[in-house]
Amino acid sequence: MTAEIIDGKQMSADIRAEVAASAKKLKEEQGPTPGLAVVLVGEDPASQVYVRNKENACAEAGFHSFKHELPKNTTQEKLMNLVFELNRSDDVHGILVQLPLPKHLDSAEVLLAIEPEKDVDGFHPVNMGKLVVGQTTLAPCTPAGCIELLKRSGVELEGANAVVVGRSNIVGKPAALLLLAENSTVTIAHSKTRDLATVCRAADVLVAAVGVPKMITGDMVKEGATVIDVGINRTDEGLVGDVDFEAAKEKARAITPVPGGVGPMTIAMLMKNTLKAAQMALPAQDR
Ligand code: NDP
Repeated sequence: MTAEIIDGKQMSADIRAEVAASAKKLKEEQGPTPGLAVVLVGEDPASQVYVRNKENACAEAGFHSFKHELPKNTTQEKLMNLVFELNRSDDVHGILVQLPLPKHLDSAEVLLAIEPEKDVDGFHPVNMGKLVVGQTTLAPCTPAGCIELLKRSGVELEGANAVVVGRSNIVGKPAALLLLAENSTVTIAHSKTRDLATVCRAADVLVAAVGVPKMITGDMVKEGATVIDVGINRTDEGLVGDVDFEAAKEKARAITPVPGGVGPMTIAMLMKNTLKAAQMALPAQDR
């Protein structure tokens, strides 16, 4: 079997177009234009690129974007005050503090200060807690993108054996919870898992979020499985995922490539969350 390649780039473009259409309708019928504030501390080149991409995505979706750049020696107090100011602003529906922050800053305290209703990254413990109790509002963007890829590819999640390799708070754990919410039977594997190959071979849906290039080999993939590769690893061969793509695609029914799979979905889900945050900010009777 040679797998269908899941085109994350196309799906991301489709979602962003849908979000733009909904934002236009929201503005015409109810007034507000969704607004995303992005806070960048310091001059990390990769972070600058991410922030620029987010600004471009906002422009394309018809959102307002508010960029706040602080010098790398900014104090915790200044950063916290900016977050408080953005929490109070009616024009700002989503707040995103670009990580990683310089080492002298306490990112946990900053993320905790963001109003949960404006936490479009979905990292606030309140939003994480909602995910756990099945009342998801703003889900973390990358795992939400994985679910969207699966659904749009027509993969049956209900009752499926799903294995998530990786248990980070930003990808592995929320991906597992979102799969559980879709009624999959979920296993979370990690660095202490015994016999990872056997665990993975039981998966109808295999999500790899590890950060180790090509560690999921072809023999770990069940015939006919769907494989979602979250990994982004810079190697001498260029950008590669956590899955040995060439080997896995001979076993899987469908698989995401790297690049062009999960990666482009993250920003699409960020736009979707910002739209949702703007809708949630409407008076209850207008939602
Ligand atoms: P973390 O380093 O936070 O977590 C990695 C997880 O993998 C941990 O739970 C760890 O287990 C587990 N792990 C490490 N080695 C092994 C192993 N040999 N066997 C089994 N499990 C193992 O990474 P992230 O979750 O932040 O990111 C994962 C990958 O996803 C990275 O490549 C990252 O670049 C990518 N990524 C991609 C995004 C996108 O937009 N596409 C967004 C975010 C991340 P343990 O907990 O036991 O240590």
